[in-house]
Amino acid sequence: MKIPFVDLKSQYLSIKNEIDEAIAGIINETAFIGGDAVKKFEKEFASHNTITHCISCANGTDSIEMLLKSYSIGIGDEVIVPAISWISTSEAVSAVGAKPIFVDIDEKYYTIDSSKIEEKITKATKAIIPVHLYGQPADMPAIKKIAEKHNLIIIEDCAQSHDAEIDSKKVGLWGHSSSYSFYPGKNLGAYGDAGCMTTNDDKISQTVRMLANHGQLKKHDHVLEGRNSRLDGIQAAILSAKLPHLTKWTAARIKNAEYYNSLLKGSLLILPSVRANAKHVFHLYVVRVKNRQFVMDTLKKHGIDTAIHYPTALPFLPCYSDYHHTSADFPIAAACQTEILSLPLFAELTKPAMEYVAEHIRKVTSQS
Ligand SMILES: *Cc1c(COP(=O)(O)O)cnc(C)c1O
Repeated sequence: MKIPFVDLKSQYLSIKNEIDEAIAGIINETAFIGGDAVKKFEKEFASHNTITHCISCANGTDSIEMLLKSYSIGIGDEVIVPAISWISTSEAVSAVGAKPIFVDIDEKYYTIDSSKIEEKITKATKAIIPVHLYGQPADMPAIKKIAEKHNLIIIEDCAQSHDAEIDSKKVGLWGHSSSYSFYPGKNLGAYGDAGCMTTNDDKISQTVRMLANHGQLKKHDHVLEGRNSRLDGIQAAILSAKLPHLTKWTAARIKNAEYYNSLLKGSLLILPSVRANAKHVFHLYVVRVKNRQFVMDTLKKHGIDTAIHYPTALPFLPCYSDYHHTSADFPIAAACQTEILSLPLFAELTKPAMEYVAEHIRKVTSQS
């Protein structure tokens, strides 16, 4: 059996008419950048998240960077980020001239360890960027308390966590503002790069809207210097076509994760844990396994694709070598990076496919 890591084609085929019509509509109107389709999606996504403002942009990396800028965070400032994330989280901090301050992750849930944040706060600390990694909400109640105590901005990185919740409140509603990616493989994905920012803050909303479009709200009225980070009409129309399906797709991801849990119970793997009072939306189903390379190679031989998110924790990447981080500084991230393994998981994944994956994992882990 061949099991791909993700299968964007089967999702497309399940809504082919809606997508094809959405794309054809934009081409017919030649509304390629901005325009009604973009405004419509922004409204829909804001309302979906019960938040006042959604400001679209080109991708989920720009969105973090522009949010940081909108709070005037830059040279001389420090921003707290988790030791494991996709590089965008820390890259955006460096891009505005600030310094990313890494905090180790929680061993059980893989998100930033809130008990280790305060020891990293200095006079220069301006913000925390919690990442709801793999679809699991970070410990937002605790993070919010710390931020309030130290007067810090919270920018939530929701790139992997559309519709995740903690204490019955969606991620993206806990901080001052939030960043989303609609990269094709994300839980809500466009057919190219896309992203957005959300906030209830009118002023921040206006600033990031300017930043994303050359510092102008009206054409040729450049109030500040911004950039070109806009959403394409085609991407907006695709996202609008897909948004009504998100709830159903998320439920299917969660159901599939539960099925994997039942199939892999009692195996030698460490299975994902879900935080109390949390809705984990399983952007990724990440297990921990010894002899990871052997397991991956053997699964590959049986047609099963797996992946690693991420093979090197952020502090240990070559681009941060000047900071001289050691594994003793981030023991959990250092241990996890050698063992974490992402199994194929998407809404359309079938039960027989998951049974096949589980059968081969059980076999290979009992051998290795
Ligand atoms: C994907 C991702 C981003 C960046 O999104 P792009 O749209 O690819 O720029 C940021 N943070 C996290 C945690 C991500 O997974």
